[in-house]
Amino acid sequence: MEADSRAGTRAGRSAGRMSEGRGRRELETPRRRLAERLAAGGIRNQRVLDAFASVPRHLLIPEALRADAYRNISLPIGDGQTISAPGTVAQMTEALELTGDETVLEVGTGSGYQAAILSKLVARVISIERVPRLAASARTALDRLGVSNVIVHLGDGTGGRPADAPFDAIVVTAGGPEIPMPLVEQLAEGGRLVGPFGARDQQQLIRVCRHAGGDLTREVLGPCRFVDLLGTHGWAAA
Ligand code: SAH
Repeated sequence: MEADSRAGTRAGRSAGRMSEGRGRRELETPRRRLAERLAAGGIRNQRVLDAFASVPRHLLIPEALRADAYRNISLPIGDGQTISAPGTVAQMTEALELTGDETVLEVGTGSGYQAAILSKLVARVISIERVPRLAASARTALDRLGVSNVIVHLGDGTGGRPADAPFDAIVVTAGGPEIPMPLVEQLAEGGRLVGPFGARDQQQLIRVCRHAGGDLTREVLGPCRFVDLLGTHGWAAA
């Protein structure tokens, strides 16, 4: 996204560029306001808030919904899927307790928004999406934003990515009946997994930590509702 903001500083050179520059500033303010609302809503981690102030959510959703981009609501992204509300993405991201040099696995790339947020906070993001059209459009959008430390793979993410494991953090962004064991097995020592698990119409946001020596702890962070996690270690696809 550096390229994005550099383009903004060059915006005054022609009339056309100027209006582009003005538009850009107008869009940066809603992002900052979103970060302020997230802070007011209880998000404390400044790096997480800064990531929300910088990622252009409006460029990751269908054009017709751009007016709603910085409201704290989930939005449809096609194929029956949704981009989660920013407050939910923020809660999950904060719960991962990221410090900067981690490799993170995301299951459910969707729009690419959560991946773009993570890209600001860690060294490397590996994201898996099962719907080909969504994987392709997320890749295109991330490229347009200049995000280069996210790899998007097409496939069933409930089995993780053994070739890239272990992961310092894993975020599951679709709701499954139970925590997929392959994902727990692919957590590094000291690693955290956050995701929604439980019934189809209502899940609990769960955090699993793998401690030194291999002990696992499980915390319930609160109720939530996500689209289905479909796959071998999720719900059966229709
Ligand atoms: N993180 C996304 C949220 C998208 S909604 C965002 O920021 O926009 C959840 C996504 O998980 C959907 O795109 C859905 O297709 C995907 N999904 C569901 N089951 C999956 C699986 N087993 N493997 C990979 N992706 C899956």
